[in-house]
Amino acid sequence: MHEESRRPGNFIRQIIEADLRAHKHGGRVATRFPPEPNGYLHIGHAKSICLNFGIAEDYGGTCNLRFDDTNPHKENIEFIVAIKEDVRWLGYDWQDRLYFASGYFEQLYDYARTLIYKGKAYVCDLGTEEIRTFRGTLTEPGRDSPYRNRSVEENLDLFARMRAGEFPDGSRVLRAKIDMASPNINMRDPTIYRIRHGVVHHQTGEEWCIYPMYDFTHCLSDSIEGITHSLCTLEFEDHRPLYDWFLDEIGVPCHPQQIEFSRLSLQYTLTSKRRLTQLVEQGHVEDWDDPRMPTIAGMRRRGYTPAAIRDFCERIGVTKADNLVEMSLLENIVREDLDRKAPRRMAVLHPLKVVIEDYPEGQLEQVEAPNHPQDESRGTHTLPFTREIYIDRHDFMEDPPKQFKRLTPGGEVRLRYAYVIRCTEVIKDERGEIVELRCSHDPATRGANPQGRKVKGVIHWVSATHAREVEIRLYDRLFEHPTPDKVGDGKDFTKLLNPNSLRTLTRSYVEPSLEQAKPGDTFQFEREGYFSLDAASTREGKAIFNRTVTLRDSWAKIEQEQHAPKPGTEN
Ligand code: ATP
Ligand code: MG
Repeated sequence: MHEESRRPGNFIRQIIEADLRAHKHGGRVATRFPPEPNGYLHIGHAKSICLNFGIAEDYGGTCNLRFDDTNPHKENIEFIVAIKEDVRWLGYDWQDRLYFASGYFEQLYDYARTLIYKGKAYVCDLGTEEIRTFRGTLTEPGRDSPYRNRSVEENLDLFARMRAGEFPDGSRVLRAKIDMASPNINMRDPTIYRIRHGVVHHQTGEEWCIYPMYDFTHCLSDSIEGITHSLCTLEFEDHRPLYDWFLDEIGVPCHPQQIEFSRLSLQYTLTSKRRLTQLVEQGHVEDWDDPRMPTIAGMRRRGYTPAAIRDFCERIGVTKADNLVEMSLLENIVREDLDRKAPRRMAVLHPLKVVIEDYPEGQLEQVEAPNHPQDESRGTHTLPFTREIYIDRHDFMEDPPKQFKRLTPGGEVRLRYAYVIRCTEVIKDERGEIVELRCSHDPATRGANPQGRKVKGVIHWVSATHAREVEIRLYDRLFEHPTPDKVGDGKDFTKLLNPNSLRTLTRSYVEPSLEQAKPGDTFQFEREGYFSLDAASTREGKAIFNRTVTLRDSWAKIEQEQHAPKPGTEN
């Protein structure tokens, strides 16, 4: 048992450490991550996963993966498979502790009967609407259901017949008998079982036509699994009295402690599963793993690493305060992580052909480029250099402002790891568009650090004869609005989507060594940013690279530039 942990403390860890000192729960720590399999996991879930699994790791405890599967009409196997993959990818292991709330249905049914025996639950024939009106409001107490005083025998009989399928959907429910005047509406005789015919549950098939409600299921599943600390988000704070009531009234041997923390909200995106589902179903994004989605699958496809996501979850901390985290925090962490890990390569996103006229036709040189400028031990790779190359359109200006350090008519620039070239002629098409540059080169300047030659600019390039044509996808924030989560239900949040969240460059070129890249590999394209080879698709045989993140925080830069405009700087 570790009393001191490696990770930064938070109020939940303090509670656990105090419990351990007091030898509560026999000195055990058992947590669980309880997703509902009705969507893919997102960055908010990652916070919960890191918290639950992290605590188990640090205190020598266990963390279960439990599917909270009591709404079969919204759930399916695809989500179960995806959730397992995502938790594993994040680096956590539930070992042999994979559970389903549906695995407890028989036991939960018995627990419900226990409540009926004790006069603490009854079958109610009010319809959904009536139940709602009888419930009262925050300022008015509720009214007792006319079925509240049914005998134990009648309740047992009706509940058994609900299970046997004798009654149609919505005709009856089982309710806890607590207090219709409670100031906490959750305690006003909440429904604990409802009838649902005709759904095939992904685990239990057609065995059941009654399904337990979340509040009843969750606390009892925790108890059955011997969970010690049941960590959940703040919206369950008002449900805690009910969590405790079920466990106390049924008299289970294990009574876990529910502790609430605030949900993660991230700027410019959503952490509402319902709204993410809508984005997928209405085709606003490609799918759940669209690289613009805040889903774990989306972030993986975009090139984020599990380490970066875990680091982010740690740095945002765990509190009870509402928090809206800046997107730039996540992006900066991804950038730092990739700066250390990603090999350097060259890619030309907006190609402009350059013909080096004094370089012999058919000649091929292999120039050497480091894999990582700060880490020599990672070695070098070679790049073919030829008479025809591509440079980026943005690295040439016909009519440059003073500060422009790259190629201009008559000017010189260094091709990184190769030669200094001079632009001798600009070739345009009939519409006046620049289509090609003619250049000369200085053979004495080859290499990374040649002597005695000072040029202001260094640009990247690829050999036009050897480069591979690829598609590049540039992503930006999914929403233009910083808090699309907070927009009221009456308004259409999809109107706040950023129309430029995806820009596709269909004809870009990468150096030939990238032929060996495997789906999911991420690189720094020098001077351009971090890019990951798409794992899901290719277009017309061409590889697709997703931009993971830019080299610098371009949003911060835009804000700076608004204060001090600098013409001619890169975008
Ligand atoms: P819903 O229940 O509406 O489908 P949910 O986001 O609560 O959505 P669950 O699958 O029930 O989804 O969540 C699993 C666990 O992840 C829960 O313990 C939940 O509290 C936690 N969780 C969900 N969203 C966040 C978030 N944004 N920040 C932190 N934890 C979260
Ligand atoms: Mg939930």
